Amino acid sequence: MTAVVTLIADPTRRSLDDDVLASLGQALADAGFAPAPPVWLSPGEAVDIAVARADVAVVRPVAEVALDGMPIDVAVQPQANRRKRLLVADMDSTIIGQECIDELAAALGLREEVSAITERAMRGEIEFAAALRERAAMLAGLGPDEMEAVLRDRITLNLGAHTLVATMRKNGAFTALVSGGFTFFTSRIRARAGFDMDQANVLLTDDEGKLTGLVAEPVLGRAAKREALQALTAARGFATAETMAVGDGANDLAMIEAAGLGVAFRAKPAVAEQADVRITHGDLTALLFLQGYQRAEFITPT
Ligand SMILES: [Mg+2]
Repeated sequence: MTAVVTLIADPTRRSLDDDVLASLGQALADAGFAPAPPVWLSPGEAVDIAVARADVAVVRPVAEVALDGMPIDVAVQPQANRRKRLLVADMDSTIIGQECIDELAAALGLREEVSAITERAMRGEIEFAAALRERAAMLAGLGPDEMEAVLRDRITLNLGAHTLVATMRKNGAFTALVSGGFTFFTSRIRARAGFDMDQANVLLTDDEGKLTGLVAEPVLGRAAKREALQALTAARGFATAETMAVGDGANDLAMIEAAGLGVAFRAKPAVAEQADVRITHGDLTALLFLQGYQRAEFITPT
């Protein structure tokens, strides 16, 4: 098969230059491969190098070692089925820059207590559902106006989120925001970023709209994300190879493993280790470069 190596730099630094490409070219040649000439997706920012008759699993460590320590993301994947027809994205710390539950807790003066639990859950050190119930209980009494204020004042889309979703949709893909967080946020972030659908847990409220501290059961955790990916894939008649999942936390692992291309975005170590691709330096438009889109093809909503 043909493997394609994609290098992606921080878009503000554009540090891809001839020296970087020469280092990679030499390493591939030393390993017995004959890489094709580089094809720029965005000058200085993203580039493809096709390697014919090459196994992804063999090329990947060669490319990673060659660029080790450089501020550049290195992805190696099969050339076939690069353009994806389904995107399933985590929300907290992936599509947005925050953990919503920590921001809700901050409104009650409980950020430290809650974020410590969030951190351990996202690292996979404690069970997701139990940790979610425990933190939701700490939010009891929070009112609808306070929640609206959190959404308005504290929650921001990560760079590239809008462009990623708009470009994939323009090219016919289906996009889903699938979260272990809460529908209060996913319904709004879905609209803000332009996703086709969202799925998340429901925070239960009393007659005045205040949080009761309970979450609707069953809690949607790691398995629910994988099931959402697989259900959408089957319902729309996609091949697994045509699907992409992106996330940062331990509850994203199952969908990242099940997707045709699993992407760890600025992820916890346990997630980064398991994913097909790790994005650390690029923003969310890196997921478009991974699919071979040139920057000139990006759709940027105004
Ligand atoms: Mg997350």
